[in-house]
Amino acid sequence: MAKTGRTFFVADLHLTDERPVATGRFFRFLIEDAQGADALYILGDLFETWVGDDHDEQVAHDTARQIKALVDSGTPVYFMHGNRDFMLAGRYATLSGMTLLCDPTKIDLYGESTLLMHGDTLCTDDSAYQRFRNKIRRPWVLAWLRRLPLSLRHRMARQARAGSESAKAEKPAAIMDVNSHEVVRVLQAQQVSRLIHGHTHRPAQHQHVIDGRPCERWVVPDWYARCGYVVCDSAGCALNVEDL
Ligand code: MN
Repeated sequence: MAKTGRTFFVADLHLTDERPVATGRFFRFLIEDAQGADALYILGDLFETWVGDDHDEQVAHDTARQIKALVDSGTPVYFMHGNRDFMLAGRYATLSGMTLLCDPTKIDLYGESTLLMHGDTLCTDDSAYQRFRNKIRRPWVLAWLRRLPLSLRHRMARQARAGSESAKAEKPAAIMDVNSHEVVRVLQAQQVSRLIHGHTHRPAQHQHVIDGRPCERWVVPDWYARCGYVVCDSAGCALNVEDL
C-alpha cells in the first residue's frame, strides 16, 4: 500500500465489550485513516481494563485481529502502557503485531525530536495516585499479579476501578490535569520541543516557551463521547476530534 507520509497518535480508547460503538469506530479508523500511514502509536489505555494477556473479553480478540491486519498491510503499530492496561505484555503484543514502547519514548518524527508519554506521570499533584503507581508497576508486583487466577484478577480490576471512580469524584479537577512544572521539567530533561500524550481526556494543543525555545504539547482525545487523534507529517501536527 502506498504510504501517506503521516503518523497517527491515539490514546484512551478504553475499549470494552460494554461500549461497542467506540470499538466499531476504532476499527473504522484503522481501515479508513491509519491504513497506509507511516506508523500508528497507541499511547495507552487502549482497553478499559486489562487483567493479563489471557484477558477474555471479545474486544481483546477482535482488536488483535484488526491491528494485526494493519501491521500486515505495512503500517507498524506501537503500544505504550496506560494506567488501565499496564498488564498488557508480550503475548498480546505478538498476537496483535504491536511493538511495546517504554513510557516515555523519544522518537524522530519527520526530523523533529518528539517525546511520547501516556501522561499519568505528569499528573504529579495527585500524589496518592503516584504512590499507587510506583507500587503496582514494580516488576515483581506485575509478575505476582500475573500468576493469580483470572477470576481473581477480574475481581481486583473491578475493585480498583470502583476505588478510582470514588477517589476521582472527591478530587478537584485541577489535580487530575498535568502539573505544568512537571511538563517543563520533562521537556527540559529530554531536550525535546514537542510532547504528545493522552490520559487527561483534555484534548488540546498547548504552547510553552522553555529556555527561550517554543515547545508544543499535544493532548490526544479520549474515545468516550468523542473520538479522534493527533496526526503529524513533515509540516507539523494537527488535532482531530469528532463526536463518537
Ligand atoms: Mn490513562
